[in-house]
Amino acid sequence: MTEKYVYSFNEGNKELKDLLGSKGANLAEMTKMLLPVPPGFTLTTESCKRFFYEKQSIWNGLDKEIDAHLKQLEQLTGKKFSDMENPLLLSIRSGASHSMPGMMDTILNLGLNDQSVVGLSNATSNERFAYDSYRRFIQMFSDVVMEIPKVRFESIIEKVKKIKEIELDKDLDGDDLKSIVKKYKEIYLQETKNEFPQDPMEQLRLAIKAVFASWNNPRAIFYREMHNISKLNGTAVNIQSMVFGNKGESSGTGVVFTRDPGTGDKKLFGEFLLNAQGEDVVAGIRTPNDIVELNILMPEIYHQIKEIARNLEKHYKDMQDIEFTIEDGTLFLLQTRNGKRTAHSAIAIAVDLHKDGVITKEEALMRIKPQQIEQLLHSNFDENAIIKATSIAKGLAASPGAASGRICFTAESVEEAYKKGIKTILVRQETSPEDISGMVKAEGILTARGGMTSHAAVVARGMGKCCVAGCSQVKIHEEEKTVKYKDGVLHEGDFISLDGTTGIVYLDEIEKTKPTLGETFRELMDWIDEIKTISVRANADTPEDAKQALEFGAEGIGLIRTEHMFFKENRVSSVRRMILSSTAEERAKALNELLPMQKNDFYQIYDVMGELPVTIRLLDPPLHEFMPVKEEEIRELAKTMSLSLEELNGRITELHEVNPMLGHRGVRLGITYPEISRMQVRAIMEAAIEQQVNKNNEVEPEIMIPLISDVKELIYIKAEIEDEIKKVFTEKRKTISYHIGTMIEVPRATLTADKIAEEADFFSFGTNDLTQMGFGFSRDDSGSFISDYMEKNILEQGPFDTIDQEGIGQLVKLAVEKGRQIKPNFKIGVCGEHGGDPASIEFFQKLGLTYVSCSPFRVPIARLAAAQAAIRYPSSKIK
Ligand code: PEP
Ligand code: MG
Repeated sequence: MTEKYVYSFNEGNKELKDLLGSKGANLAEMTKMLLPVPPGFTLTTESCKRFFYEKQSIWNGLDKEIDAHLKQLEQLTGKKFSDMENPLLLSIRSGASHSMPGMMDTILNLGLNDQSVVGLSNATSNERFAYDSYRRFIQMFSDVVMEIPKVRFESIIEKVKKIKEIELDKDLDGDDLKSIVKKYKEIYLQETKNEFPQDPMEQLRLAIKAVFASWNNPRAIFYREMHNISKLNGTAVNIQSMVFGNKGESSGTGVVFTRDPGTGDKKLFGEFLLNAQGEDVVAGIRTPNDIVELNILMPEIYHQIKEIARNLEKHYKDMQDIEFTIEDGTLFLLQTRNGKRTAHSAIAIAVDLHKDGVITKEEALMRIKPQQIEQLLHSNFDENAIIKATSIAKGLAASPGAASGRICFTAESVEEAYKKGIKTILVRQETSPEDISGMVKAEGILTARGGMTSHAAVVARGMGKCCVAGCSQVKIHEEEKTVKYKDGVLHEGDFISLDGTTGIVYLDEIEKTKPTLGETFRELMDWIDEIKTISVRANADTPEDAKQALEFGAEGIGLIRTEHMFFKENRVSSVRRMILSSTAEERAKALNELLPMQKNDFYQIYDVMGELPVTIRLLDPPLHEFMPVKEEEIRELAKTMSLSLEELNGRITELHEVNPMLGHRGVRLGITYPEISRMQVRAIMEAAIEQQVNKNNEVEPEIMIPLISDVKELIYIKAEIEDEIKKVFTEKRKTISYHIGTMIEVPRATLTADKIAEEADFFSFGTNDLTQMGFGFSRDDSGSFISDYMEKNILEQGPFDTIDQEGIGQLVKLAVEKGRQIKPNFKIGVCGEHGGDPASIEFFQKLGLTYVSCSPFRVPIARLAAAQAAIRYPSSKIK
């Protein structure tokens, strides 16, 4: 069987995205749905792969297939590709299986040459149209195929417009365009030392090769890296007969979304331009009209679009982003795809589609990316600060959020500033794919041109980045590096603030506030809780953190780091005395001071959490974090401890550790000084008893021992603290339930987890330390080289961000298996940073863990990730 590399639009369907690219598959699907799609064919992604295998050339077999499909196209359209009178013209567009807006390249009007442009002019009796099409073709071909900078062409148009005193491209007449074409060809000759190619077949082959080759241009590679897109064959090439939106005032081109991508509202949302072609709307060259205006200008077309939008959304079961062209009053569709949207609208749309019975609850949940939840938690400007702020202009509210930063005019300067930790706003006339790296690193984006579907708007929304687009009230001079507004001028490095929700631009930096979450969000979170099987707790050390965690839906506290409670100003001195004292009596004195403070802390936290589980970890400080450093601090401490300066310094030197992370911390401290653990446990239990007595709150404390590596450590410390608990019960004449568990964070503990499980009521993985000790990467020092590991593909992800499944994950798995061999329903959680990371949560779900615990702000993200993991791995059995 001969290999097939080319598919006509009526051969494919939407399921063939991997083969035809998403654009090609959707064009085929719309053709199947009998929608008005100009005929065409698709060169598959496999052909792109083979193109690179063939050393970037078009092999014989592909040539033949292209020929055959061109003939078919000629038959369908009744035009001839190389005809000089009424030529068949083509659009050439790339399209991989993942949509990569703006990353790959497009050529329109291919097939035109010096002769056929005359033919086209005669056949349509429209010279302006013919030469406008030709000049566009030369410009796009030169850009995409020959990489001649666009500005060379744009400056010519600008000059002609200036001479003729006109503002818009569409007001150029046939003669103007003829002279522009002549100049364009001269540029082409200057730049390439060749005449502009006149043979349509040669044009086509060069264009196909350029689109294939663009798969590996640095912008495309960067985009794929940024979105973690790998393992794709390449891009498909869509070759389609042209329809023309630039034929006059009854023609036009536009983009519509089936819903508002900013809010999710169920209404047609989009823009169009009359007498324009292809990229004009998205490129932001002219500011387009709102789609509702089409209802006045061409009501029939407007209703046709509305009807099609409804059908496409129903068919694809998702919000669609549709490109269309109107040629002489006839509508054509050029593309449909799932529309990019803000986090807010993603939730609104998913919830709405489920309520409309279009998708299931599970499908709705799978539609939302955990990162989008993160976007929802974005801050806004403080209401009071905003009243006092000076607004200087208003543009389009292209992507919500609030951003303040220093003005930068190029992606490079944004990147430079980013390296120095300086926050920036990327300010551009309009953005293009070359700006992506700067857009990623800027706080926000401001453009003077372009509408809601311009490159800046679409890309920023996808990134969840604040963007104000089409802000024509400011004049941006990129070369001069100035932004002129009504009352003044700003320069590179000056501060501005953008409100992406209102489109307003302000002077200076403005204070921000935490966001609030709406009703739809709460509804979605309820669904999440119905579906997820793993609990989500929070790591919280204060009543405020605990409140925040509860607000975000935490089901308990998985980790209180008690050493964080000791950092408070008025306690440090007692803590230092506790550590530095050389006698048990002195230590007891310091501990007595700390006891009521600790007890009150726990009491407050129990109060917030009610009967939800609260896990309190006994002291785990690397000692150096508590040592006094400043001379006057040491002097002061010596005074309170009645020690001479020398004596205290001597004690500090004695306790100095070369490697505190592997030093006298965690349970090791309790083994040397059991009275510290006893004090903490007394505080935990007394506070819990008082909660029960005073508030009828049935608190069952979970006491957690850190840094266990051998069960004997646990046995020792358990005996100490249980003895203390007994004393508390006797003194208070009351007993309550409690649990004593352990962290599993030392590799040896994972290997001996069965023995430890005999003694523990629960395990909680400290994956931070487990990663540190498993890899031998210092948590404090590895930041400086892990990025090199990632750049050199030695590591795919930072192991402190996402659990290393192959190595550290296997230690976790082993400990789970060993623990559950002893106690089949053993409660096992995770409280390292990985507890808030979606990819790690999926892994923990597969291992059948009971809960994850993460910082309060990551709780909503973790909940969604947990629900998605439960949908993917419902059995949650240990694999
Ligand atoms: C851990 O090691 O993962 C952990 C939660 O403890 P800490 O980060 O406090 O060392
Ligand atoms: Mg730890």
